[in-house]
Amino acid sequence: MTNALSDVSFWFDSLGTLPPVTAPPLPEHVDVAIVGAGYTGLWSAYYLHKLEPNLRIAVFEAERAGFGASGRNGGWCMGMAWGVEGLLARPTTRSRGVALARALFDTVDEVGRICQAENIDAHFAKGGSLNVATIPFQVERLKRHVDHLEQAGFGESDYRWLPEAESRERLSMTPNYGALFFRHCAAIQPARLVLGLADVVRHQGTVIHEATPVTAIESGRVVTNRGAVRAGAVIRATEGYTDSIAGQRRRIMPLYSMVTATEPLPPEVWAQIGLKERETFGDGRRVVMYGQRTLDDRLVLGGRAGYYFASKRRATIPPNDPKVVRVKSLVTTLFPILKDYRITHGWGGLMGVPRHWRPCVQWDRERRTGWAGGYVGEGVAASNLAGRVVADLVTGRTTALTELPWVNDEARLWEPEPLRWIGAKAIEGFGDRADRAEFTSGTPSKVWGGLFDAFVR
Ligand SMILES: Cc1cc2nc3c(=O)[nH]c(=O)nc-3n(C[C@H](O)[C@H](O)[C@H](O)COP(=O)(O)OP(=O)(O)OC[C@H]3O[C@@H](n4cnc5c(N)ncnc54)[C@H](O)[C@@H]3O)c2cc1C
Repeated sequence: MTNALSDVSFWFDSLGTLPPVTAPPLPEHVDVAIVGAGYTGLWSAYYLHKLEPNLRIAVFEAERAGFGASGRNGGWCMGMAWGVEGLLARPTTRSRGVALARALFDTVDEVGRICQAENIDAHFAKGGSLNVATIPFQVERLKRHVDHLEQAGFGESDYRWLPEAESRERLSMTPNYGALFFRHCAAIQPARLVLGLADVVRHQGTVIHEATPVTAIESGRVVTNRGAVRAGAVIRATEGYTDSIAGQRRRIMPLYSMVTATEPLPPEVWAQIGLKERETFGDGRRVVMYGQRTLDDRLVLGGRAGYYFASKRRATIPPNDPKVVRVKSLVTTLFPILKDYRITHGWGGLMGVPRHWRPCVQWDRERRTGWAGGYVGEGVAASNLAGRVVADLVTGRTTALTELPWVNDEARLWEPEPLRWIGAKAIEGFGDRADRAEFTSGTPSKVWGGLFDAFVR
């Protein structure tokens, strides 16, 4: 592992050379062992220390802090998570969905508050988020969604419909027929957040053992490539890399998402595009698109998804990967004004997808082992909330957070190969076909869209 991670993501590249990886001698025993130094593992360590400052906590990381999705994502710190919509849709689960949604809304402010309190310069800007209607029929769909959210108890300070003129004023994207504005979202620089958090956690006294892959987790100990460590509690926070742990091969499907970044764009371009408040933005396509304006005035745009047979992982994704190239071409489709500007970066990272497509914080009180994750592509804020839930559970507290519906909501295992690969490819194909059919016909895709929704919602 080198001290520059320029090929991992633009976010790392912009930081230049990083401090050396730290792999101190292994302790014999710790109170809490955490596997994985992404947001989930680090937030868990942070809040555990806040609750019980005397706990001896160790984090074991296969590569270096932030190497996973936490150092590569699109930088939406969004107060929402997969699975909430499903809870809101059913009268029997609506109140639990509202409780989870409200906890996630507050989480965005919690992340901002801690960045400020702990001097983490993560370029945090809470400008909200735009879900843009890029096909006329989506206008009615999004408006109906706003009504549904109002009925569930959310107000204009949470979600708001922006008619076309107002939406274009905020974001001049082609096309833009109006947008659903969601207030609880901030743009961040992901690598700054995860590295800043790692520093804070180290200052609290937690030891981060980098370059120390864990091969097995058992009740009361973790086994690493450098030996075993006994632990009073073990938390797995390995997301898209979970199959690296013995016995966890089918727990989480690793799914790639691809991202690009332009060169810094001049003020006259931004005067036309908008995003004055660094709003994040996306649209209604199923093969997701997400964008943000960075603090140094680049446009970062992500999207696509990909699964490799038998959960094969790639440490880095090169800028000429066909899926990255497709995201690059989307930049000028949505923003023709950018055709003369360079796209300087392209990369990819692994999201973690559980079989039921919603996050979980799992805790076995008897064995004192647990895990958190399964955020699909929405874990930047959710991992903070999960970290707080982990801290409450491990220290034996019963709180409003430990009553949230994602606690112990564990999914069944994914199918063995080749069924898993066939299923993943089918979902990708249904999503692609539905998006293409809708853009071509201008009407909702009942067949492909229906098939896609049946698998992932
Ligand atoms: C390209 C991309 C774009 C995204 N965009 C957004 C976004 O804009 N907004 C949003 O909310 N979410 C987004 N996500 C999702 C979000 O980044 C993740 O949900 C979040 O970072 C998960 O954090 P984590 O700590 O659980 O996992 P990770 O950050 O993946 O961390 C897991 C860590 O565990 C380590 N590890 C794994 N196995 C072992 C082992 N056996 N031993 C030791 N260490 C191990 C890994 O090296 C890694 O560092 C995106 C994801 C990707 C890939």
